[in-house]
Parts: sequence; structure tokens; C-alpha cells
Amino acid sequence: MYIGHFAIAYVLIRLFPGIPPLVPLIGVSFPDILWPVFVFLGFEKAEINPDSPLQKYVRFTSYPYSHSLAVSFIISCTAGLILASAIDPIAGIVFVIASASHWFMDAIVHLGDLPVLGSRRDKKVGLGLWNRPRTAFAIEYIFYASVVLFVMPTAYFLPLLLLGAAGHLLNANSFLGFTRTNPFKSLKLYAIFALIGFIGFSLMANYMLSDIATF
Ligand SMILES: [Zn+2]
Repeated sequence: MYIGHFAIAYVLIRLFPGIPPLVPLIGVSFPDILWPVFVFLGFEKAEINPDSPLQKYVRFTSYPYSHSLAVSFIISCTAGLILASAIDPIAGIVFVIASASHWFMDAIVHLGDLPVLGSRRDKKVGLGLWNRPRTAFAIEYIFYASVVLFVMPTAYFLPLLLLGAAGHLLNANSFLGFTRTNPFKSLKLYAIFALIGFIGFSLMANYMLSDIATF
């Protein structure tokens, strides 16, 4: 999941207006910022399908740290503690909530590969919405847009809806399969795309929301 995560960040931004927007934006992205780093370090593994760009054919064979409910929570608590001492305790708590939301949102779309504890014989979950790529594509944007319209002040509707549409379209090939083969020729390239996607979206949303606390 990509833009759907940021809808949760918007809710937290509205609930905690005193916290810099970048805190929940990076928070909801945190597991997908860790994942490319861990792929490069060799800690986590996945296989892309060279014959298809569809997200449902990416096999997340092992990601017990960035994407297990328990271990990712512990890592985000460590980051949250640093934030709590650097900014304020609420910022740390908001970051941990945002990061925890990532796993629950991913659980809607992933195909039964999300680890719970991160242990060797772990239970893995996922409702598998990615098995219906067109439906998943529509639902993710509808969810994002609904949250924007429901929680954000009117002045932010257009920029955030456009930002979401741009991000979602960048990711559209993995739902709709415009290309016959996978444009990502290696897992590392795919991981870099994910990293840039999450950090880039966070920075752009943060820029657009820089004066949100005054609304
Ligand atoms: Zn994820």
C-alpha cells in the first residue's frame, strides 16, 4: 500500500495539530523506509516477477523486522523515544501510532505474508486485496480522498487530492499492468523506487501542510 498510509497521517495531523506534520508522515512510511534499507543490507528478502509488474506477484519471502507487528513496533518505539526527547513526548507517541498503523493498513492488501511476531515459525496474515488489482486500485484512492475530504480544511482539498492522484498514478502499473513485463529489473531498483516514493510523498505533503496548525 502506498497513498492509503498517508490518509492515516492526515488524521493524526488533525488530531495533534501541535506536532510537526512530518512526524506522522514519516511515521506511517517508517516500515517502508526501513524495508529498502534492510533489503540493501541483506536482512530482508523479496522476489519480484520479471514477467509481470503486478504487485500481487511480488513475493515478500522474508521481512521479519520492517513488517512484523512486534519487531517493527519495537523499532518504531526506539525512534519514538528519540523523537520524544528531541521534540516532545507527544511527537514520540504520534510517531509510534503512525508507524503501527502501517502494518494494519498493509494487512488489508498483502497476500498472507505479513509476519506477526517476526519469529522463525511465525503466523503470517493478509486479507489479499491485491488479488483484485483493479478493485484495490480504486479502493485505495477512494479511501485516501474520503479521508482528505472528511478531516482536512477545504483549502487543502485540491493540493492533497492532486498529490494523492499523482502518487497513485506513479504506482498504477503495479495494479493495472500497463507494461507486459516488470520495468523493475531488480529487487534493489524496486526498493529504491519505494524509498523515494515514501520519502518524496512525505516531504511534499509536509510542504503543503506547513501552515495546517493555524487552521
Ligand atoms: Zn509496507
